Amino acid sequence: MGRVFLVELQSRSFYKCRFCHTHLAPSDNILSWSFNCRRGRAYLFSDVVNITLGHQEDKMMLSGLHTVEDIFCVCCGQILGWKYVAAHDRNQKYKEGKFVLESTAILIHFSNRWRIAEATEELNLDACAGSSDADTP
Ligand SMILES: [Zn+2]
Repeated sequence: MGRVFLVELQSRSFYKCRFCHTHLAPSDNILSWSFNCRRGRAYLFSDVVNITLGHQEDKMMLSGLHTVEDIFCVCCGQILGWKYVAAHDRNQKYKEGKFVLESTAILIHFSNRWRIAEATEELNLDACAGSSDADTP
């Protein structure tokens, strides 16, 4: 087996594999939170990285017949969701080429840079409190 090259996401918050923490998609790539799958909630993404795709299959879903491919984590092989290859109903065409990740298979990650920014703000507040002390008689 060849070497696996992983894409590392640089965005402030992103989704990663729940099982091996491989980066999957920036939060900005979410198109919809209101999808459902057999195991609960699922999210629609415009693009996802570090995945492999299964065989094409026609599946009858709540919104009609779709041609889909299962999505697997490139690192641990866990099934994460599916990709819409083709929608047979005209109203569902917007999903073609998009990815669905099941909420039970992913975790959200917030980068440390964001936390440092919050800490700096707290320090500034302390400085203001200190100077207002001088006004007390
Ligand atoms: Zn994984």
